[in-house]
Amino acid sequence: MASSEIARDINRSSVLDSIRIGQPLSRADLARQTGLQRSTVSLIVDELIDERWVVEGALGQLPRGRRPRLLYLNTHRAGIIGINVMPRQTVIALADLNTRILAQESIATQLDPKIFIKVLCSYTQRMIEHHPEVAFEGIGVSVPGRLDYEAQRVEFAANLGWHRVDLKEPLERSTGLPVQIENAANACALAEVWSGAHEGVTDLIALTVSDGIGTGIIANGHLVRGPSGAAGEFGHVCLNPDGPECKCGGRGCWEVYASNVAAIRNYSGQKDNGTRTPEGKLSNGSGTSFADILSLAERGDRRAGRALDEMARYLGLGMAMLVNGLAPAVIVVVGEVTRVWKRVSPIIEQVVHECAHTHAATRIEPADDSKQPRLRGTIALVLQKHFRPRLFA
Ligand SMILES: [Zn+2]
Repeated sequence: MASSEIARDINRSSVLDSIRIGQPLSRADLARQTGLQRSTVSLIVDELIDERWVVEGALGQLPRGRRPRLLYLNTHRAGIIGINVMPRQTVIALADLNTRILAQESIATQLDPKIFIKVLCSYTQRMIEHHPEVAFEGIGVSVPGRLDYEAQRVEFAANLGWHRVDLKEPLERSTGLPVQIENAANACALAEVWSGAHEGVTDLIALTVSDGIGTGIIANGHLVRGPSGAAGEFGHVCLNPDGPECKCGGRGCWEVYASNVAAIRNYSGQKDNGTRTPEGKLSNGSGTSFADILSLAERGDRRAGRALDEMARYLGLGMAMLVNGLAPAVIVVVGEVTRVWKRVSPIIEQVVHECAHTHAATRIEPADDSKQPRLRGTIALVLQKHFRPRLFA
């Protein structure tokens, strides 16, 4: 592309993103926020209205002079399908341009990828058929595992037991829509940038805590993937070579001590790392789920409380490693454990304080679990080609 075309695309996506974050806005507001000339903004806005990305709404208020027309995103312009694959459960959702979830369904995540893909494709097709009024823009998929970005397939997902699984091709074939696939922690990092909540932050880590531990790293305003796409696997950094076995084939990895599975193991007094039934249920002898441990602890159960405190200590230990190594401005924690943030946060902060001596001043924050951050990341995956969050500008 010629450099003038690239510049026009960049200007256009930053205007669109400013409207998304700040709507409703006038053309004058946009010129101020983007630093572009009024005439350039007007040209871009006319084009965006022509293409139905943006609509003009009510008249704004000004102390004097002509009242400006305010601009909004046209939420009817496009629908996005977001698919969040997790061990045990996969969520399929339909969202609008404002990442508002309009419909949502859950299916069991089968460990046999062939069976799973078949069920996933038929549910996704059904969701599309049930909304004939929506112009679908694409599908975003997040998977808890390592991806081969060139081949666009899942290379290895330890907690699903998947090796070299292609979700993209069958989904594209059955729906006719383009599919973007991303590692779950990376999608969460993207969702944080997308939320507009971290103005001025260029270094951020999304830490996903579930059956495993993932890190989505944004450094200097760029997602860090490494040449092979395998970057961010801090969950498999070895803390103890004599520790329990990990599903990755190693021993004593961070996630063996700090994941939800670790808390379950700790609660039930087990030594191994849990095994999985063919249906994907975590079999730990007791049948206790992580959600059970959270509710037990909230009701004052000492053993459940101790399991969570131990998990928090190890979360802190690993986060101290992230703070020492990468010194991000923010670590955003994503996962059910954030529901007991008041309990675990002081322990995490204390351990990080004791183990990180670099004065990195990293803030540690919980993502709002009720807002489904993992799912929002999948929607941002599809929309990011049209919108340019200021962090990536
Ligand atoms: Zn491991």
